[in-house]
Amino acid sequence: MSDTVPVKSMRKDKIRLAPQAVTTRPVAGRIADFDPIVMSFDETSACAEADRCLSCPRQPCVAACPLSNDIPTAMHHIAEGRFLEAAAVYRATSPFPEICSRVCPQENLCEGACVLGKHGQPVALGMLERFVTDYQREIAPETVVPLRAPSSGKRVAVVGTGPAGMSVAHWLLELGYAVTLYEAWPAPGGWLTYAVPSYKLPRGVLHDALARLEQMGARFVFNTRIGQDIAVETLRAEYDAVFLGVGAMRDTAASFPGHNLPGVYTGTEFLLPVYTPAALRPPQMAEPEIGAHVVVFGGGDTAMDCVRTAVRLQVRQGMQPNVTLMYRRTEYEMPAAHKERHAAREEGVEFVYLAAPLAFHPGPDGRIHEVVVQEMALGEPDASGRRRPVPTGHEYTVRADVAVLALGYEADPLLGETTPDLLTHKHGLIVIDPQTGATNLPGVFAGGDDVRGPHLVSVANHDGIVAARAIHAYLTAAQP
Ligand SMILES: Cc1cc2nc3c(=O)[nH]c(=O)nc-3n(C[C@H](O)[C@H](O)[C@H](O)COP(=O)(O)OP(=O)(O)OC[C@H]3O[C@@H](n4cnc5c(N)ncnc54)[C@H](O)[C@@H]3O)c2cc1C
Ligand code: SF4
Repeated sequence: MSDTVPVKSMRKDKIRLAPQAVTTRPVAGRIADFDPIVMSFDETSACAEADRCLSCPRQPCVAACPLSNDIPTAMHHIAEGRFLEAAAVYRATSPFPEICSRVCPQENLCEGACVLGKHGQPVALGMLERFVTDYQREIAPETVVPLRAPSSGKRVAVVGTGPAGMSVAHWLLELGYAVTLYEAWPAPGGWLTYAVPSYKLPRGVLHDALARLEQMGARFVFNTRIGQDIAVETLRAEYDAVFLGVGAMRDTAASFPGHNLPGVYTGTEFLLPVYTPAALRPPQMAEPEIGAHVVVFGGGDTAMDCVRTAVRLQVRQGMQPNVTLMYRRTEYEMPAAHKERHAAREEGVEFVYLAAPLAFHPGPDGRIHEVVVQEMALGEPDASGRRRPVPTGHEYTVRADVAVLALGYEADPLLGETTPDLLTHKHGLIVIDPQTGATNLPGVFAGGDDVRGPHLVSVANHDGIVAARAIHAYLTAAQP
């Protein structure tokens, strides 16, 4: 291209470039298994799609990415076929881009900020990140594992092995620290292992990322609940620094008449056994029994995961999908990502708005048989800025063989209760300095859902980076 071509006309030409089609598997096939539904780009379509990037000087996509990935530079490399260089751009700021590219709600992040999306389709940034990082893992796996700095001689304990713990461990290992990760469950990965559906995140991709941490020298200690089996104070005495990344994994409590009936599940009780091999889950957590009529209550991404999982479970048992999602507000206030709602509808899920559970009634076999639903209307905005649902007084009954309450998650107060002087908020979330992740206890840092409440994988990854930098600065400053 000539240097004399004015930037403006280049942008104009690019705006006219057609978006590459993102292909999803036909509905009938995809609801018969738990495999990913979106097909990857090939090399030609990846180059063409990346070429649509306008290289905006203000870089709104970078500002909207929790990890500040240098997306325009990656797009430039991809458009010219330099896939490995593009992958390296992502890995400079993101510890596990092959995971984020699959699970990020891009419409609210990088793609939501893409200027092309204002009047048409944004560049498929998530798909391109996935394409190049998968390409790298396949073509040049040796380039995925970062070189480690010489040993610092210092040891860091990481509590929790979800995206926050995985991220802080990754960066600290790279900086030459010895890292031990303590995990309450029998396997690492947090929600990525125990709840995120495999049609969004195939477990092979996650296992590769976890294996990489081991290759870098991470030591894992499983079945060890810090605050119960080992005190945080003991870790402080044994290690040079401690990171707390225990998430917010407690289901929001429900107290409706009949909510303990067989066939009524929380989001975790419903999802965890489906996506976790029996050897890696608590013995009382058997796969949910599935029935002909499933009703899921909630409006977030977990609720979407529940309805789409229920469809697959029904099809696996030879049933016709019959799954209803009930949400107490309207679609406008629904927090679930648009792409998840769209996929759920395609897969046959019925959406009912302004509907909240009131009671669960059993049938003659003692299992749930029907749900009493109360009709809601929208009142004044609440603290979240969304209009508050208020009962209209009208009630009705729907048939349900299975009901799932996907009502959200809360922090576990254990660490706050068992660690003298650790400052927590009243809901159990840990108080930190947001610039560094430092708690009020010297040498103790925290990040991810245990600080923010239920959030996102990329945000937990970001918190891990912030804390790793701060831990490095703390330990370097502490050197004699
Ligand atoms: C069903 C579901 C679907 C989701 N889908 C998406 C999605 O598509 N995209 C997205 O961006 N986000 C999604 N999220 C949110 C995302 O998974 C979380 O924001 C993210 O996992 C938070 O990471 P974390 O490391 O802070 O905590 P977690 O992933 O919760 O990990 C915390 C870890 O700490 C361990 N632990 C807890 N207490 C202790 C203790 N006392 N001692 C030792 N270990 C302990 C836990 O066992 C766990 O392994 C989803 C969440 C759920 C529940
Ligand atoms: S990490 Fe998420 S928000 Fe950032 S570029 Fe990747 S997909 Fe987009």
